Amino acid sequence: MQDTTKKPLLSVILPAYNEEASVPRAAQVICTLLEQADIRHEVIFIDDGSKDDTWTMILAQAASHPQVRGVRFSRNFGKEAAIFAGLAQARGNCVVVLDCDLQHPPEKILEMYRLWEQGYQVVEGVKVSRGKESPLHTLAAKTFYSLISRATGIDMSRASDFKLLDRRAVDTLLAMREKNAFFRALSSWIGFSTAQVEFEVQPRLEGTSKWSFRSLTKYALVNLTSFSAAPLQLITLLGVMVFLCSVVLGIWSLWQKLSGQALEGFTTVILLQLIIGSVLMICLGIIGYYVARIYEEIKDRPRYIVADSCEGKTDGGQAEKTL
Ligand code: UDP
Ligand code: MG
Repeated sequence: MQDTTKKPLLSVILPAYNEEASVPRAAQVICTLLEQADIRHEVIFIDDGSKDDTWTMILAQAASHPQVRGVRFSRNFGKEAAIFAGLAQARGNCVVVLDCDLQHPPEKILEMYRLWEQGYQVVEGVKVSRGKESPLHTLAAKTFYSLISRATGIDMSRASDFKLLDRRAVDTLLAMREKNAFFRALSSWIGFSTAQVEFEVQPRLEGTSKWSFRSLTKYALVNLTSFSAAPLQLITLLGVMVFLCSVVLGIWSLWQKLSGQALEGFTTVILLQLIIGSVLMICLGIIGYYVARIYEEIKDRPRYIVADSCEGKTDGGQAEKTL
């Protein structure tokens, strides 16, 4: 038998939420591709608390492919948590993260792997186009990415979660204790020698996108506030603007009083009270949001809870449960 121990190991991480239809295809395509390229690999599916038969499918794949492993969350913790669970599970010298629906073309893994062999420690998949989306979605995404790009100082407009990371980069990410880690931005923020591979977002073949308008808005808010304190500085800016207005209004009303003219009744007073009241409430809301985030971090709850895991068996028998 060929000695495989000296060859580097590539871990492929696939977060899966209600992907019963995509799991078999993803396992098949990725294992065949990497076997043909003669790259030693393991494929790790993270079942993010799916409500369909995703876990059964993962167990079946682990039973037929020795390289396939699976981790099952106790409930849905979100894609970011799934990615970090995958990173924690990976045993490879390098790790690739891609979507289970194969909207990230798996062939590009080979290109990324070759760049890693040349010494790059982070290889980022960048989108050439965003695939088919509604104009409203594209606009919302553009706004979010221009804000987050400013916050991180990294151009995020074409960024994706499709990345290859060297063991050093993986360990650096795992050492970060923050609960609301934004993988896409953090993996660029950590630096290291970085290369880029362009890819076209493929159409989804099975199932539907897991993002609703509500979940996307929450995702944008959580990630923006976890990377930037700019909204808090906005409060200072608002305060300065209201102060400048109050100076002008103050001088004007004093001048009116001194020149003996009566004030124009209550309308101005009511308007001012309403404006100041709402500005104050909005500011309190922003501060409250950050306090809530601090509260979440300080509670130090785990990012995810693993309910079950399985390991592919080399003799082709049943997948082995490892929990
Ligand atoms: N996903 C996940 N947990 C979630 C939502 C999504 O693990 O709560 C996974 C999903 O199974 C897929 C990837 O994240 O592999 C991307 O999700 P999706 O295809 O729904 O997003 P889109 O491609 O539309 O941005
Ligand atoms: Mg998708």
